[in-house]
Amino acid sequence: MTTTPTLTGLSLAQLEIFLAEMQEPRYRAKQLFAWLYKHGVSSFDEMTDLPEALRERLKSSATIGSIEAISKQSSTKDGTVKFLFTLADGNKIESVLIPPRKGSIDEEKRLTVCISTQVGCPLDCAFCATGTMGFTRNLTPGEIIGQVQEIQNIAHRPVTNIVFMGMGEPLLNYGPLMQAITIFSSEAGMGISPRRITVSTAGYADQMRRMADDGAKVKLAISLHSLHNETRTKLMPITKKHSVEEVIAAATYYFEKTKKSIMLEYILFDNLNDSHVDVKRLVKVSRHFQCRVNLIPYHSIAFTNPSGFAAGLRGSPPEKISWFSKELRDAGIPTFIRDSAGEDITAACGQLAAKKEN
Ligand code: SF4
Repeated sequence: MTTTPTLTGLSLAQLEIFLAEMQEPRYRAKQLFAWLYKHGVSSFDEMTDLPEALRERLKSSATIGSIEAISKQSSTKDGTVKFLFTLADGNKIESVLIPPRKGSIDEEKRLTVCISTQVGCPLDCAFCATGTMGFTRNLTPGEIIGQVQEIQNIAHRPVTNIVFMGMGEPLLNYGPLMQAITIFSSEAGMGISPRRITVSTAGYADQMRRMADDGAKVKLAISLHSLHNETRTKLMPITKKHSVEEVIAAATYYFEKTKKSIMLEYILFDNLNDSHVDVKRLVKVSRHFQCRVNLIPYHSIAFTNPSGFAAGLRGSPPEKISWFSKELRDAGIPTFIRDSAGEDITAACGQLAAKKEN
């Protein structure tokens, strides 16, 4: 059985090969690339500088995209919007549009999306709804890019910032992730500065080093949540494969190679990782590389009926979060407390969990 190729997600070089097979000149690939990514059109008829005969041939030999928004849910509290997408094979993924903070300088222009890289996730972090879905498959570059394009079409505004913090571990889908980032940040493509793109990892030390060696220009965020191996293993079983020490060594390597400050994400759990000792550990680590800490209030995933260790997790009380953040700031570490945007529609951090199949 032959399948019709999907063009969104192909690099310029891949479009050149595709068009060469149709006996089309090479320069057509640049035109097609611009229509797909700079203009983000959804039909071949809109590609007005391509000859009509070519547009007709493209219609019968390829499709533009392979992802469709089937529902959206808006928060009545903060303007966060959660999107449910269906993929060509029927799988579902979620992405989130995060509105700018009221009163921020770039409120008018900024449009941030949090996107997924896998259907489900194999890492099974105790605090995360996606982990409870298990892992189905990696997304293609086209499915990663499609999330951003669909959201900007619906919002009628260009996306300015991308965070890879949706479903899945981005660094387990390295090739498609990098291809999507190249297209997002290409001037001839979507023109989003890599400084406005953040890749968040659970701590895949080897791949963090690989990113640095590959000359990554994007920001790196690490879901840290504890610097104590035993506690972190309970929260994030990946710690058995890459210990805290390995993650910190890889983060140091990334910083030394890229000179980019690293964001450490830290969900505060009551009486688990919010003590004096935990603050001291974070302060010590921050001496290894330039970083800032993002403290995240825990968002309940009770809707997934967690059991065992996960069922007992509770967020630290607000006064403990304030104390923890003050300790870090007093030690000179830039520290932010993340808003719980989207919690009322289960779109906050760790709450994404699209149903596998309908
Ligand atoms: S927190 Fe991230 S890495 Fe962990 S299970 Fe959820 S999606 Fe996967």
